[in-house]
Amino acid sequence: MAPGLEIASILYHDVVDNHKDSGFQRPSAIPYKHTLFEFGQNLDRIAKSPVTPGLVFDIDFARPGRHLLLTFDDGGKSAIYVNDELCKRNWKAHFFITTSLIGNRTFLDTNGVRYLRSCGHIIGSHSHTHPDIFKDIPFHKMMEEWAISCDILSQILGNPCITASAPGGDVSAKVLRSANAAGMRYLFTSDPSLTPHKEGNCWILGRVCPKAGSSLSRVEEFVQFRGWARELMRRRAKVLLRTTLFPLYRSYIRRTTREWSK
Ligand SMILES: [Zn+2]
Repeated sequence: MAPGLEIASILYHDVVDNHKDSGFQRPSAIPYKHTLFEFGQNLDRIAKSPVTPGLVFDIDFARPGRHLLLTFDDGGKSAIYVNDELCKRNWKAHFFITTSLIGNRTFLDTNGVRYLRSCGHIIGSHSHTHPDIFKDIPFHKMMEEWAISCDILSQILGNPCITASAPGGDVSAKVLRSANAAGMRYLFTSDPSLTPHKEGNCWILGRVCPKAGSSLSRVEEFVQFRGWARELMRRRAKVLLRTTLFPLYRSYIRRTTREWSK
């Protein structure tokens, strides 16, 4: 990787006024759903970046430079609205799809996935079943998650799937190895980092995730390539706490990722 290469990747989920209309229907998903108005405010701040949001495929990792990438996890059906907003600005983004949920009431169907691709976005895997503590499952299960998901996406889109984002946030060396072994060339994590690194043939790219209600000035800072080190410290403290309190964290995740009865 070239010295002086910085990639600011921003992670969003659903954009929806009523959380029941798109994405996961469970308590842990709520803080990640932006209203239409708030998302518009985020886009206005992103527009203040010195660089236009682009695609990871267009980055030459051997050259110094600054790049801004927008990514959307889960594959909730609000991605169609997100696309409309991005199109108005002529911006391209990355959508990571949980393939076992394609066609469910609050998720994209196959036509939606194809439509996003036809608009010029990159479509990647967000695993098949979205295990909430992905780093906790055995290696062969990780491989299965990537393989099934990529098989479904390549059947829908007619080209191989080489990009992915890790579900549930936390990654480990094992998760990175699995993505590389499954043929991924780009894996997005939730570790705030401007500097990509490589695992085998796979570029590992960090991201920041402004939650609903996050201060807009922080969003603006991130897209100006500032505030990332502080965010990394915050994230590390959170991960350390989770690791120390792992049994409690696991039961918290079980409780908050349970779907509400419909
Ligand atoms: Zn997710």
